[in-house]
Amino acid sequence: MTAASSTPLKSHDSIVIIGAGQGGFQAAVSLRDAKFAGRITLIGDEPYLPYQRPPLSKAYLGGALDEDGLTLRPASYFERHDIDLLMGDAAVEIDRDRQEVKLASGRRVNYAHLILATGTRPRPLVAEGAELAGVHVLRTKEDADALRPRLIEESRVAVVGGGFIGMEFAAVAADAGHEVVVIEGLARIMARSVSPDLSEYVTAVHRGWGTRILLGSGVQRLIGDAGRVTGVVLANGETVVADIVLVVIGVLPNVELAQEAGLEVANGISVDESLLTSDPRISAIGDCASYPSAHDGGRPTRLESVQNAVDHARHVAARLTDGSYSAYRNTPWFWTHQFDLNVQIAGIGSANDECVVRTDPAGNKFSVYRFQADRLVCVESVNQPGAHILARKMLTGEVRPTPAQVADLAFDMKALLTPAV
Ligand code: FAD
Repeated sequence: MTAASSTPLKSHDSIVIIGAGQGGFQAAVSLRDAKFAGRITLIGDEPYLPYQRPPLSKAYLGGALDEDGLTLRPASYFERHDIDLLMGDAAVEIDRDRQEVKLASGRRVNYAHLILATGTRPRPLVAEGAELAGVHVLRTKEDADALRPRLIEESRVAVVGGGFIGMEFAAVAADAGHEVVVIEGLARIMARSVSPDLSEYVTAVHRGWGTRILLGSGVQRLIGDAGRVTGVVLANGETVVADIVLVVIGVLPNVELAQEAGLEVANGISVDESLLTSDPRISAIGDCASYPSAHDGGRPTRLESVQNAVDHARHVAARLTDGSYSAYRNTPWFWTHQFDLNVQIAGIGSANDECVVRTDPAGNKFSVYRFQADRLVCVESVNQPGAHILARKMLTGEVRPTPAQVADLAFDMKALLTPAV
Protein backbone atom coordinates (compact mmCIF):
# COMPACT_ATOMS: atom_id res chain seq x y z
CA MET A 1 0.00 0.00 0.00
CA THR A 2 1.46 3.34 -1.02
CA ALA A 3 0.66 6.11 1.39
CA ALA A 4 0.63 9.47 -0.33
CA SER A 5 0.84 12.88 1.19
CA SER A 6 -2.32 14.83 0.61
CA THR A 7 -2.85 18.35 -0.66
CA PRO A 8 -6.15 20.09 -0.04
CA LEU A 9 -8.47 20.12 -3.00
CA LYS A 10 -9.14 23.39 -4.78
CA SER A 11 -12.47 25.14 -4.69
CA HIS A 12 -13.31 24.16 -8.27
CA ASP A 13 -12.42 20.49 -7.77
CA SER A 14 -15.03 17.78 -7.86
CA ILE A 15 -15.49 15.07 -5.22
CA VAL A 16 -17.54 12.03 -6.10
CA ILE A 17 -18.87 9.68 -3.42
CA ILE A 18 -20.10 6.21 -4.38
CA GLY A 19 -22.62 4.88 -1.86
CA ALA A 20 -25.23 7.14 -0.25
CA GLY A 21 -25.52 5.26 3.06
CA GLN A 22 -24.32 6.37 6.48
CA GLY A 23 -20.69 6.94 5.47
CA GLY A 24 -21.25 8.47 2.03
CA PHE A 25 -23.89 10.83 3.40
CA GLN A 26 -21.62 11.92 6.26
CA ALA A 27 -18.72 12.54 3.88
CA ALA A 28 -20.86 14.96 1.85
CA VAL A 29 -22.09 16.72 5.00
CA SER A 30 -18.60 17.01 6.53
CA LEU A 31 -17.10 18.34 3.30
CA ARG A 32 -19.68 21.13 3.18
CA ASP A 33 -19.29 21.75 6.94
CA ALA A 34 -15.57 22.20 6.28
CA LYS A 35 -16.47 24.84 3.64
CA PHE A 36 -15.43 22.75 0.64
CA ALA A 37 -16.81 24.85 -2.21
CA GLY A 38 -16.30 22.48 -5.14
CA ARG A 39 -18.78 20.09 -6.65
CA ILE A 40 -19.98 17.12 -4.54
CA THR A 41 -21.77 14.23 -6.21
CA LEU A 42 -23.33 11.55 -4.03
CA ILE A 43 -24.24 8.40 -5.97
CA GLY A 44 -26.60 5.82 -4.46
CA ASP A 45 -28.10 2.73 -6.03
CA GLU A 46 -31.06 2.66 -3.62
CA PRO A 47 -34.05 4.76 -4.70
CA TYR A 48 -34.35 6.63 -1.39
CA LEU A 49 -32.88 9.66 0.32
CA PRO A 50 -29.92 8.57 2.49
CA TYR A 51 -31.25 6.77 5.58
CA GLN A 52 -29.99 5.13 8.75
CA ARG A 53 -30.01 1.32 9.03
CA PRO A 54 -30.01 0.64 12.81
CA PRO A 55 -33.80 1.14 13.24
CA LEU A 56 -34.46 -1.40 10.47
CA SER A 57 -33.99 -4.21 13.01
CA LYS A 58 -35.43 -2.25 15.94
CA ALA A 59 -37.95 0.65 16.06
CA TYR A 60 -38.79 0.73 12.32
CA LEU A 61 -39.37 -3.01 12.17
CA GLY A 62 -41.47 -2.90 15.32
CA GLY A 63 -43.58 -0.02 13.92
CA ALA A 64 -42.46 2.61 16.46
CA LEU A 65 -40.63 4.68 13.80
CA ASP A 66 -41.87 5.70 10.37
CA GLU A 67 -40.05 6.32 7.07
CA ASP A 68 -39.38 9.99 7.87
CA GLY A 69 -37.64 8.89 11.06
CA LEU A 70 -35.20 6.78 9.03
CA THR A 71 -34.21 9.54 6.61
CA LEU A 72 -30.98 11.30 7.55
CA ARG A 73 -31.91 14.68 5.95
CA PRO A 74 -34.81 15.90 3.80
CA ALA A 75 -34.31 16.54 0.07
CA SER A 76 -34.15 20.29 0.77
CA TYR A 77 -30.90 19.82 2.72
CA PHE A 78 -29.09 18.49 -0.36
CA GLU A 79 -30.46 21.31 -2.52
CA ARG A 80 -29.50 23.97 0.02
CA HIS A 81 -25.98 22.60 0.32
CA ASP A 82 -25.55 22.09 -3.39
CA ILE A 83 -24.93 18.35 -3.14
CA ASP A 84 -25.78 16.53 -6.37
CA LEU A 85 -27.72 13.51 -5.19
CA LEU A 86 -27.97 10.81 -7.85
CA MET A 87 -30.26 8.18 -6.37
CA GLY A 88 -31.39 4.90 -7.89
CA ASP A 89 -28.36 4.85 -10.18
CA ALA A 90 -25.46 2.47 -9.53
CA ALA A 91 -21.82 3.23 -10.27
CA VAL A 92 -20.73 0.46 -12.63
CA GLU A 93 -17.15 1.38 -13.52
CA ILE A 94 -14.28 3.52 -12.28
CA ASP A 95 -11.90 4.73 -14.98
CA ARG A 96 -8.84 5.71 -12.94
CA ASP A 97 -6.90 7.10 -15.93
CA ARG A 98 -9.68 9.50 -16.85
CA GLN A 99 -10.74 9.99 -13.20
CA GLU A 100 -14.28 9.23 -14.16
CA VAL A 101 -17.14 7.15 -12.77
CA LYS A 102 -19.62 5.53 -15.13
CA LEU A 103 -23.19 4.96 -13.92
CA ALA A 104 -25.74 2.33 -14.92
CA SER A 105 -27.80 5.07 -16.59
CA GLY A 106 -24.87 5.82 -18.90
CA ARG A 107 -24.06 9.08 -17.13
CA ARG A 108 -20.36 9.84 -16.45
CA VAL A 109 -19.01 11.95 -13.59
CA ASN A 110 -15.45 13.24 -13.29
CA TYR A 111 -13.62 13.41 -10.00
CA ALA A 112 -10.54 15.04 -8.51
CA HIS A 113 -11.05 12.72 -5.55
CA LEU A 114 -13.30 9.67 -5.24
CA ILE A 115 -14.67 8.28 -1.97
CA LEU A 116 -15.88 4.68 -1.94
CA ALA A 117 -18.60 4.06 0.65
CA THR A 118 -20.27 1.04 -0.87
CA GLY A 119 -21.06 -0.84 2.37
CA THR A 120 -21.85 -4.53 2.47
CA ARG A 121 -24.55 -6.96 1.40
CA PRO A 122 -25.98 -9.98 3.24
CA ARG A 123 -23.97 -13.20 3.01
CA PRO A 124 -26.30 -15.63 1.21
CA LEU A 125 -27.33 -18.95 2.75
CA VAL A 126 -26.14 -21.74 0.50
CA ALA A 127 -28.74 -24.43 1.17
CA GLU A 128 -31.59 -26.11 -0.63
CA GLY A 129 -34.79 -24.05 -0.24
CA ALA A 130 -33.03 -20.73 0.39
CA GLU A 131 -35.01 -19.19 -2.50
CA LEU A 132 -38.48 -20.03 -1.06
CA ALA A 133 -40.96 -17.22 -0.39
CA GLY A 134 -40.93 -16.27 3.28
CA VAL A 135 -37.13 -16.46 3.49
CA HIS A 136 -35.83 -12.94 4.18
CA VAL A 137 -32.63 -10.96 4.66
CA LEU A 138 -32.33 -7.60 6.45
CA ARG A 139 -29.99 -4.93 5.14
CA THR A 140 -32.09 -2.33 3.37
CA LYS A 141 -35.31 -0.41 3.86
CA GLU A 142 -36.78 -2.58 1.11
CA ASP A 143 -35.90 -5.71 3.14
CA ALA A 144 -37.52 -4.25 6.27
CA ASP A 145 -40.62 -3.21 4.31
CA ALA A 146 -40.97 -6.78 3.05
CA LEU A 147 -40.66 -8.17 6.59
CA ARG A 148 -42.93 -5.74 8.48
CA PRO A 149 -46.31 -6.98 7.20
CA ARG A 150 -45.22 -10.60 7.51
CA LEU A 151 -44.48 -9.98 11.18
CA ILE A 152 -48.10 -8.97 11.65
CA GLU A 153 -49.59 -11.89 9.70
CA GLU A 154 -47.41 -14.83 10.69
CA SER A 155 -46.66 -16.42 14.01
CA ARG A 156 -43.70 -18.78 13.80
CA VAL A 157 -40.34 -17.17 13.18
CA ALA A 158 -36.95 -18.81 12.67
CA VAL A 159 -33.80 -16.71 12.72
CA VAL A 160 -30.72 -18.25 11.13
CA GLY A 161 -27.72 -16.51 12.71
CA GLY A 162 -27.42 -15.26 16.30
CA GLY A 163 -25.39 -12.09 15.64
CA PHE A 164 -26.50 -8.57 16.57
CA ILE A 165 -29.10 -8.17 13.81
CA GLY A 166 -30.50 -11.68 14.31
CA MET A 167 -30.91 -11.14 18.05
CA GLU A 168 -32.43 -7.67 17.57
CA PHE A 169 -34.95 -9.12 15.12
CA ALA A 170 -35.66 -12.02 17.53
CA ALA A 171 -36.39 -9.48 20.29
CA VAL A 172 -38.84 -7.51 18.11
CA ALA A 173 -40.58 -10.72 17.00
CA ALA A 174 -40.84 -12.14 20.55
CA ASP A 175 -42.09 -8.79 21.84
CA ALA A 176 -44.81 -8.89 19.16
CA GLY A 177 -45.95 -12.25 20.53
CA HIS A 178 -44.43 -14.61 17.95
CA GLU A 179 -42.89 -18.01 18.58
CA VAL A 180 -39.20 -17.45 17.89
CA VAL A 181 -36.37 -19.92 17.35
CA VAL A 182 -32.78 -18.71 16.83
CA ILE A 183 -30.45 -21.14 15.06
CA GLU A 184 -26.79 -20.34 15.69
CA GLY A 185 -23.86 -22.38 14.38
CA LEU A 186 -21.38 -21.35 17.08
CA ALA A 187 -21.45 -22.26 20.76
CA ARG A 188 -22.85 -18.87 21.84
CA ILE A 189 -24.72 -15.90 20.38
CA MET A 190 -22.93 -12.73 19.14
CA ALA A 191 -19.69 -14.70 19.60
CA ARG A 192 -17.67 -12.73 17.04
CA SER A 193 -18.21 -9.45 18.89
CA VAL A 194 -18.93 -9.88 22.59
CA SER A 195 -17.57 -11.67 25.66
CA PRO A 196 -18.91 -15.03 26.88
CA ASP A 197 -20.37 -13.22 29.94
CA LEU A 198 -22.45 -10.90 27.75
CA SER A 199 -23.53 -13.71 25.39
CA GLU A 200 -24.72 -15.73 28.37
CA TYR A 201 -26.65 -12.83 29.89
CA VAL A 202 -28.40 -11.86 26.65
CA THR A 203 -29.21 -15.52 25.92
CA ALA A 204 -30.92 -15.80 29.31
CA VAL A 205 -32.99 -12.65 28.65
CA HIS A 206 -34.20 -13.98 25.29
CA ARG A 207 -34.98 -17.38 26.80
CA GLY A 208 -36.93 -15.59 29.52
CA TRP A 209 -39.17 -14.26 26.73
CA GLY A 210 -39.77 -17.82 25.55
CA THR A 211 -37.39 -17.75 22.59
CA ARG A 212 -35.63 -21.04 21.79
CA ILE A 213 -31.95 -20.52 21.12
CA LEU A 214 -30.31 -23.52 19.47
CA LEU A 215 -26.53 -23.24 19.75
CA GLY A 216 -24.01 -25.21 17.67
CA SER A 217 -26.80 -25.88 15.15
CA GLY A 218 -26.24 -25.99 11.40
CA VAL A 219 -28.92 -25.60 8.72
CA GLN A 220 -29.20 -28.59 6.43
CA ARG A 221 -32.00 -27.27 4.17
CA LEU A 222 -35.21 -25.27 4.12
CA ILE A 223 -38.48 -26.96 3.29
CA GLY A 224 -41.66 -25.49 1.85
CA ASP A 225 -45.11 -26.00 0.47
CA ALA A 226 -46.35 -24.43 -2.80
CA GLY A 227 -43.20 -22.32 -3.02
CA ARG A 228 -43.47 -20.90 0.51
CA VAL A 229 -41.18 -21.85 3.39
CA THR A 230 -42.60 -24.08 6.13
CA GLY A 231 -39.52 -24.96 8.11
CA VAL A 232 -35.79 -25.32 8.61
CA VAL A 233 -34.22 -28.78 8.75
CA LEU A 234 -31.19 -28.75 11.03
CA ALA A 235 -27.99 -30.75 10.58
CA ASN A 236 -29.09 -33.01 13.47
CA GLY A 237 -32.31 -33.88 11.61
CA GLU A 238 -34.68 -31.77 13.75
CA THR A 239 -37.17 -29.60 11.83
CA VAL A 240 -37.95 -26.10 13.12
CA VAL A 241 -41.43 -25.21 11.83
CA ALA A 242 -41.55 -21.61 10.55
CA ASP A 243 -43.70 -19.23 8.48
CA ILE A 244 -40.88 -16.67 8.23
CA VAL A 245 -37.16 -17.40 8.13
CA LEU A 246 -34.73 -14.52 8.53
CA VAL A 247 -31.22 -15.32 7.32
CA VAL A 248 -28.61 -13.09 8.97
CA ILE A 249 -25.30 -14.93 8.71
CA GLY A 250 -22.98 -11.98 8.20
CA VAL A 251 -22.17 -9.76 5.27
CA LEU A 252 -19.86 -9.48 2.28
CA PRO A 253 -18.16 -6.13 1.63
CA ASN A 254 -19.06 -4.53 -1.71
CA VAL A 255 -15.57 -4.48 -3.22
CA GLU A 256 -16.15 -5.53 -6.82
CA LEU A 257 -16.12 -2.02 -8.28
CA ALA A 258 -12.80 -1.29 -6.56
CA GLN A 259 -11.37 -4.67 -7.52
CA GLU A 260 -12.27 -4.24 -11.18
CA ALA A 261 -10.58 -0.82 -11.08
CA GLY A 262 -7.37 -2.56 -9.90
CA LEU A 263 -7.42 -1.32 -6.28
CA GLU A 264 -6.07 -3.54 -3.51
CA VAL A 265 -8.78 -5.61 -1.88
CA ALA A 266 -8.58 -8.10 1.04
CA ASN A 267 -11.76 -8.63 3.09
CA GLY A 268 -12.70 -5.07 2.15
CA ILE A 269 -11.10 -2.30 0.14
CA SER A 270 -7.59 -1.98 1.60
CA VAL A 271 -6.73 1.50 2.83
CA ASP A 272 -3.75 2.95 4.68
CA GLU A 273 -3.83 4.58 8.11
CA SER A 274 -5.37 7.76 6.61
CA LEU A 275 -8.02 5.74 4.71
CA LEU A 276 -6.46 6.18 1.27
CA THR A 277 -6.62 3.23 -1.12
CA SER A 278 -3.68 2.10 -3.25
CA ASP A 279 -4.66 5.03 -5.54
CA PRO A 280 -4.00 8.38 -3.77
CA ARG A 281 -6.99 9.89 -5.57
CA ILE A 282 -9.38 7.37 -4.01
CA SER A 283 -10.38 6.88 -0.35
CA ALA A 284 -12.59 4.16 1.10
CA ILE A 285 -14.68 4.45 4.27
CA GLY A 286 -17.16 2.59 6.44
CA ASP A 287 -18.22 -1.04 6.22
CA CYS A 288 -16.43 -1.63 2.91
CA ALA A 289 -12.99 -0.41 4.08
CA SER A 290 -10.28 -2.55 5.66
CA TYR A 291 -7.93 -0.27 7.59
CA PRO A 292 -4.98 -0.76 9.97
CA SER A 293 -6.66 -0.28 13.34
CA ALA A 294 -4.63 1.55 15.97
CA HIS A 295 -6.86 -0.22 18.52
CA ASP A 296 -6.05 -3.67 17.24
CA GLY A 297 -2.27 -3.58 16.93
CA GLY A 298 -2.42 -2.13 13.39
CA ARG A 299 -4.12 -5.27 12.08
CA PRO A 300 -6.30 -4.88 8.96
CA THR A 301 -9.75 -4.36 10.42
CA ARG A 302 -13.16 -3.98 8.84
CA LEU A 303 -15.84 -2.75 11.22
CA GLU A 304 -19.57 -2.58 10.64
CA SER A 305 -20.92 0.26 12.75
CA VAL A 306 -22.39 3.73 12.44
CA GLN A 307 -19.58 5.30 14.47
CA ASN A 308 -16.96 3.74 12.20
CA ALA A 309 -18.68 4.97 9.01
CA VAL A 310 -19.29 8.47 10.40
CA ASP A 311 -15.81 8.94 11.87
CA HIS A 312 -14.13 7.57 8.73
CA ALA A 313 -16.12 10.08 6.69
CA ARG A 314 -15.13 12.97 8.93
CA HIS A 315 -11.48 11.95 8.80
CA VAL A 316 -11.41 11.84 5.01
CA ALA A 317 -13.32 15.13 4.70
CA ALA A 318 -10.76 16.80 6.98
CA ARG A 319 -7.84 15.38 4.99
CA LEU A 320 -9.32 16.58 1.70
CA THR A 321 -10.07 20.07 2.93
CA ASP A 322 -7.06 20.91 5.10
CA GLY A 323 -4.49 18.72 3.38
CA SER A 324 -3.27 17.17 6.63
CA TYR A 325 -2.24 13.56 6.31
CA SER A 326 -2.85 11.91 9.68
CA ALA A 327 -3.62 8.44 10.94
CA TYR A 328 -7.22 7.59 11.78
CA ARG A 329 -7.17 6.59 15.46
CA ASN A 330 -10.74 6.95 16.76
CA THR A 331 -11.87 4.51 19.42
CA PRO A 332 -14.45 2.13 17.95
CA TRP A 333 -17.81 1.89 19.71
CA PHE A 334 -21.20 0.48 18.88
CA TRP A 335 -24.50 -0.51 20.42
CA THR A 336 -27.38 -2.94 20.27
CA HIS A 337 -30.90 -2.71 21.73
CA GLN A 338 -32.75 -5.90 22.58
CA PHE A 339 -35.93 -5.77 24.73
CA ASP A 340 -35.03 -3.31 27.49
CA LEU A 341 -31.30 -4.01 27.21
CA ASN A 342 -29.20 -1.09 26.06
CA VAL A 343 -25.83 -2.66 25.27
CA GLN A 344 -22.96 -0.30 24.42
CA ILE A 345 -19.49 -1.50 23.52
CA ALA A 346 -16.28 0.54 23.45
CA GLY A 347 -13.07 -0.87 21.96
CA ILE A 348 -12.43 -4.23 20.34
CA GLY A 349 -12.20 -7.51 22.21
CA SER A 350 -10.93 -10.86 21.04
CA ALA A 351 -11.46 -14.52 21.82
CA ASN A 352 -8.98 -15.02 24.66
CA ASP A 353 -9.56 -11.83 26.65
CA GLU A 354 -9.56 -11.94 30.43
CA CYS A 355 -12.98 -10.59 31.50
CA VAL A 356 -13.85 -8.81 34.74
CA VAL A 357 -17.53 -8.11 35.39
CA ARG A 358 -18.34 -5.01 37.43
CA THR A 359 -21.96 -5.02 38.55
CA ASP A 360 -23.80 -1.98 39.82
CA PRO A 361 -25.08 -3.01 43.25
CA ALA A 362 -28.10 -0.75 42.74
CA GLY A 363 -29.72 -2.76 39.98
CA ASN A 364 -29.63 -4.87 36.88
CA LYS A 365 -26.75 -3.03 35.23
CA PHE A 366 -23.19 -4.15 34.70
CA SER A 367 -20.14 -3.79 32.50
CA VAL A 368 -17.71 -6.43 31.28
CA TYR A 369 -14.12 -5.17 31.13
CA ARG A 370 -11.97 -7.14 28.69
CA PHE A 371 -8.19 -7.28 29.09
CA GLN A 372 -5.35 -8.56 26.94
CA ALA A 373 -2.20 -9.14 28.98
CA ASP A 374 -3.67 -6.94 31.75
CA ARG A 375 -4.30 -4.10 29.26
CA LEU A 376 -7.90 -2.89 28.98
CA VAL A 377 -9.05 -3.24 25.35
CA CYS A 378 -12.84 -3.27 25.47
CA VAL A 379 -15.75 -2.48 27.79
CA GLU A 380 -19.28 -3.85 27.27
CA SER A 381 -21.92 -1.98 29.25
CA VAL A 382 -25.48 -3.13 29.85
CA ASN A 383 -27.88 -0.31 30.80
CA GLN A 384 -24.90 1.72 32.07
CA PRO A 385 -24.43 4.66 29.66
CA GLY A 386 -22.19 6.43 32.19
CA ALA A 387 -19.77 3.49 32.29
CA HIS A 388 -19.76 3.40 28.47
CA ILE A 389 -18.86 7.08 28.15
CA LEU A 390 -16.17 6.66 30.80
CA ALA A 391 -14.79 3.63 28.94
CA ARG A 392 -14.57 5.60 25.68
CA LYS A 393 -12.68 8.35 27.45
CA MET A 394 -10.31 5.87 29.11
CA LEU A 395 -9.57 3.97 25.89
CA THR A 396 -9.12 7.18 23.89
CA GLY A 397 -6.88 8.75 26.54
CA GLU A 398 -4.83 5.57 27.06
CA VAL A 399 -5.91 5.66 30.70
CA ARG A 400 -6.38 2.03 31.60
CA PRO A 401 -7.44 0.58 34.95
CA THR A 402 -5.97 -2.76 36.00
CA PRO A 403 -8.14 -5.88 36.38
CA ALA A 404 -7.77 -5.58 40.18
CA GLN A 405 -9.00 -1.96 40.14
CA VAL A 406 -12.02 -2.92 38.03
CA ALA A 407 -12.85 -5.83 40.33
CA ASP A 408 -12.79 -3.52 43.36
CA LEU A 409 -16.22 -1.84 43.51
CA ALA A 410 -14.87 0.72 45.98
CA PHE A 411 -12.32 1.91 43.39
CA ASP A 412 -13.47 5.14 41.68
CA MET A 413 -12.56 4.78 38.01
CA LYS A 414 -13.55 8.35 37.19
CA ALA A 415 -10.66 9.45 39.39
CA LEU A 416 -8.24 7.93 36.84
CA LEU A 417 -9.28 10.61 34.37
CA THR A 418 -8.95 13.45 36.86
CA PRO A 419 -5.41 14.80 36.86
CA ALA A 420 -3.82 14.77 40.34
CA VAL A 421 -3.37 18.26 41.81
P1 FAD B 1 -24.16 1.55 4.07
O1 FAD B 1 -24.90 2.37 5.07
O2 FAD B 1 -24.58 0.13 3.88
O3 FAD B 1 -24.23 2.32 2.68
C1 FAD B 1 -23.68 1.80 1.50
C2 FAD B 1 -24.55 2.24 0.35
O4 FAD B 1 -23.84 2.10 -0.87
C3 FAD B 1 -25.80 1.38 0.21
O5 FAD B 1 -26.94 2.20 0.04
C4 FAD B 1 -25.52 0.59 -1.06
O6 FAD B 1 -26.69 0.18 -1.71
C5 FAD B 1 -24.72 1.61 -1.85
N1 FAD B 1 -23.92 1.06 -2.96
C6 FAD B 1 -23.18 -0.08 -2.98
N2 FAD B 1 -22.60 -0.22 -4.19
C7 FAD B 1 -22.97 0.85 -4.94
C8 FAD B 1 -22.72 1.25 -6.29
N3 FAD B 1 -21.92 0.53 -7.08
N4 FAD B 1 -23.27 2.39 -6.73
C9 FAD B 1 -24.07 3.14 -5.93
N5 FAD B 1 -24.36 2.80 -4.66
C10 FAD B 1 -23.82 1.67 -4.17
N6 FAD B 1 -24.55 -0.16 13.52
C11 FAD B 1 -24.45 0.33 14.78
O7 FAD B 1 -23.45 0.98 15.10
N7 FAD B 1 -25.45 0.12 15.68
C12 FAD B 1 -26.58 -0.58 15.36
O8 FAD B 1 -27.47 -0.73 16.21
C13 FAD B 1 -26.70 -1.07 14.04
N8 FAD B 1 -27.82 -1.76 13.65
C14 FAD B 1 -27.93 -2.20 12.36
C15 FAD B 1 -29.10 -2.86 11.97
C16 FAD B 1 -29.24 -3.30 10.66
C17 FAD B 1 -30.50 -4.00 10.24
C18 FAD B 1 -28.19 -3.11 9.73
C19 FAD B 1 -28.31 -3.62 8.32
C20 FAD B 1 -27.02 -2.47 10.11
C21 FAD B 1 -26.89 -2.00 11.42
N9 FAD B 1 -25.74 -1.34 11.85
C22 FAD B 1 -25.64 -0.85 13.13
C23 FAD B 1 -24.59 -1.17 10.94
C24 FAD B 1 -24.60 0.19 10.28
O9 FAD B 1 -25.86 0.51 9.76
C25 FAD B 1 -23.54 0.18 9.17
O10 FAD B 1 -22.30 -0.09 9.78
C26 FAD B 1 -23.51 1.48 8.41
O11 FAD B 1 -24.69 1.71 7.71
C27 FAD B 1 -22.31 1.48 7.46
O12 FAD B 1 -22.35 2.62 6.64
P2 FAD B 1 -21.71 2.55 5.17
O13 FAD B 1 -21.90 3.90 4.58
O14 FAD B 1 -20.36 1.97 5.24
O15 FAD B 1 -22.61 1.49 4.41
